[in-house]
Amino acid sequence: MTDLYRLLPEEMEEMVIELGEPRFRADQILYSLYYKFPKNISEIKQLPKEFREKLLENGFNIGSTKEVHRVQSKDGDTTKLLLSLNDETPIESVLMQYKPKKFFGHPRSTICVSTQVGCAMGCVFCATGQMGFERNMKAEEILGQVIHFAKILSEKGQHVTNIVFMGMGEPLANYAETFRAIQLLTHPRGFGIGQRHITISTIGIVSAIEKLAEEKMQIGLAISLHAPNDKLRQMLVPTAGPDSVEALIASGKKYFLKTGRRVTFEYALIEGINDTPEIAEELAWLLKDNGSHINLIPLNPTAGEFTRPARKNVIEFERILYNGGINCTVRVEKGTEISAACGQLRTDILEKYNNTIS
Ligand code: SF4
Repeated sequence: MTDLYRLLPEEMEEMVIELGEPRFRADQILYSLYYKFPKNISEIKQLPKEFREKLLENGFNIGSTKEVHRVQSKDGDTTKLLLSLNDETPIESVLMQYKPKKFFGHPRSTICVSTQVGCAMGCVFCATGQMGFERNMKAEEILGQVIHFAKILSEKGQHVTNIVFMGMGEPLANYAETFRAIQLLTHPRGFGIGQRHITISTIGIVSAIEKLAEEKMQIGLAISLHAPNDKLRQMLVPTAGPDSVEALIASGKKYFLKTGRRVTFEYALIEGINDTPEIAEELAWLLKDNGSHINLIPLNPTAGEFTRPARKNVIEFERILYNGGINCTVRVEKGTEISAACGQLRTDILEKYNNTIS
């Protein structure tokens, strides 16, 4: 079976012509897929019944992500979904909504998508990392998460404004499917979101960052650094290479030079591990004159044995970076009470399910 959501507009045209239909049928399908969000081919009402039947006979379908569970933060701004893929694999996606600032700005609806089921990178503070790796997701499954939320938002007269590849998995370890998903999302005849409204977050696969820089796209890049030296970084990210810090700083610079897009370094602050004033000074020294931005993320409170630093320690860490001339922000917390760690919702639900059937 081929999911219609997998096809780029040019491929859709080739497909309808191969099936003996006029080219404009491709536009009818694309309009339906990206504006009407049909659950199956019979819901594409723009097409004649005979052509819909022909699509089914030729092995096309629309793979739907089924919603298994939904949790919402108390303020209603964050919604986390457990979705079931076609093979019934459960994955997570999150919608974060931001109200406009008082006198300027626009409301934003950001979707955080998953790219793999589980993750092989094994970061010690991450629930997904502790699950291990199950499989890569296909481009249409990545896109399907955005489509699912786009439908929910459209029913309220709202739309998706930003997409971040920060859910379960390492997007650059699933490069081909992640990149196809980006092409589908940014194609003017596809989902049609601007490239600058997409950010990929990576633990830092240097060869893939360099490849992405050559794609001539305007995608934002966030590199998860988490430590200013290799010894500490390898403890937190066991799959990191022996010279990962230096290589990551260099790859971030290359990405900026190729794309003109400023790179953000992400830094999960973990109490007693990487949050001391000495480490802040080491980090400030490392990123001095680099021109990049650092995003401090106080660790989610429920991530296993690791804990979030006290607020005063976070402020002190930020102050040291700021005094060292580093452009730095502390991530705004959204829906902490529902999000737990990435991968946590899936783990919780599966545990409940297993307890029920055992
Ligand atoms: S933090 Fe990201 S890269 Fe690391 S284990 Fe979790 S999902 Fe994978």
